[in-house]
Amino acid sequence: MTDGRRIAILGATGSIGAATLDVVANLQRHAPDAGWRVMSVSGHSRIEELVRSAEAASPKPRTIVVSDGQKITEAEEEISRHGLTGHCQLDTGADALVRAATDPEVDTVVAGIVGRAGLESTLAAVQAGKRVGLANKETLVIAGPVVTAAATSSGSELLPIDSEHSAIYQCLAEARGLASTRSASQLGHDVGSSRVTAEANGRCDFGSPNHAFPGVRRLILTASGGPFLNSSSEEIDAATPAEALNHPTWDMGEKITIDSATMMNKALEIIEAKWLFDVPADRIEVVVHPQSIIHSLVEFEDGSVIAQLSPPDMRLPIQYALTYPHRLPCPAPPLERTQRWDMSLIPVDLERFPALELGFEVARVGGTAGVVLNGANETAVPLFLSGKIRFTDIARLCKQTLQDHNHESAPSLARLLELDTWSRQRAAQLAETISVA
Ligand code: NAD
Ligand code: MG
Repeated sequence: MTDGRRIAILGATGSIGAATLDVVANLQRHAPDAGWRVMSVSGHSRIEELVRSAEAASPKPRTIVVSDGQKITEAEEEISRHGLTGHCQLDTGADALVRAATDPEVDTVVAGIVGRAGLESTLAAVQAGKRVGLANKETLVIAGPVVTAAATSSGSELLPIDSEHSAIYQCLAEARGLASTRSASQLGHDVGSSRVTAEANGRCDFGSPNHAFPGVRRLILTASGGPFLNSSSEEIDAATPAEALNHPTWDMGEKITIDSATMMNKALEIIEAKWLFDVPADRIEVVVHPQSIIHSLVEFEDGSVIAQLSPPDMRLPIQYALTYPHRLPCPAPPLERTQRWDMSLIPVDLERFPALELGFEVARVGGTAGVVLNGANETAVPLFLSGKIRFTDIARLCKQTLQDHNHESAPSLARLLELDTWSRQRAAQLAETISVA
């Protein structure tokens, strides 16, 4: 029997959080004595929903975290109204997320907060040596080297939840197996310990002379193409928020849905892959796959390509991150095989989706570029949703903000946080000069 995990779900009221709660409930039904347990749930604004999720969990989470410190009274009232007083303790404010992420009784943290707001708690979980199921890709985009260095020193396992990166992690199983069958002396000097760390973190050392994951040529991320895959440049320029929020294959939170429409999501995922798998940008490719069944592919040196397939349902990558290296029955439906499968792979169009080029560029230069791109994008998306800028201005603002910043290749975390603030201010200033008319 696979031992259950004691899990903190950060961002429990979101799309990833809700799917995680469902996965854990299913694992509990499947193996009632294994000890699967949600230790804490966090939410920011939808307090009633958060408290209801705690009420539905069994056993009840020990802690309900409300990260917005303004919502203490509302949270207390909801906890009382749902009969949870005395069962769940309330912790509030941004620091409460860090306390939940580092709770000694928690062994696994699901990082399901959207955007930069998830950075401190995700990093704290990594520093505390937890297994981290990473949905919050923005943390790696902002501070990839800081997070991966922290994982190496704490022994934290970074298990991707993003479906593409989970797919790559799964496709790399063969390379990972090969690496672990080689002795330290075969691999060369000093590689024994780094191999163990790389294995633990699922990272492959493409750039180093000691290929911890031998034989891998390229990582190929699939992109659905979003709602504008077949739209003209003019149609994309005139896209409304409602059109951009209408994703053809995935049901997700608002921000990532807009990121999917601009393909900024794929740009962020290129950067995420670079840090997660320790791979240079020129070893990453993107291919459009509208059906969202092939979640990504790995090409090996002999030309063989291994892919991971499943219907678009986040419960599978979430569960994989929780149960790795074991596989257990999952509530996500399997592939329907009684009907014709259409699976197409289409080259990306960088002209209609300029955000993608930014992802490759930022992955190439690293350093401060990721935080600047992310800050500008997190500023531009709400401006588009509130009608202040056009859809195509999102990538335009991001590009200009990147061009306006003085790149540094090895920034500290403090410097990255300064640039997070700067990039938001700069993107907002630039937006003022744009007319939506
Ligand atoms: P969502 O909008 O549905 O949920 C966001 C969660 O973050 C909520 O629980 C909310 O309370 C919390 N949150 C928002 N602002 C906060 C703040 N300032 N402080 C603390 N908590 C805050 O988002 P989602 O779609 O679940 O995405 C979450 C993360 O997972 C994102 O980084 C996204 O890119 C990534 N991801 C999502 C999917 C998906 O299918 N939804 C797939 C891959 C990756
Ligand atoms: Mg993804």
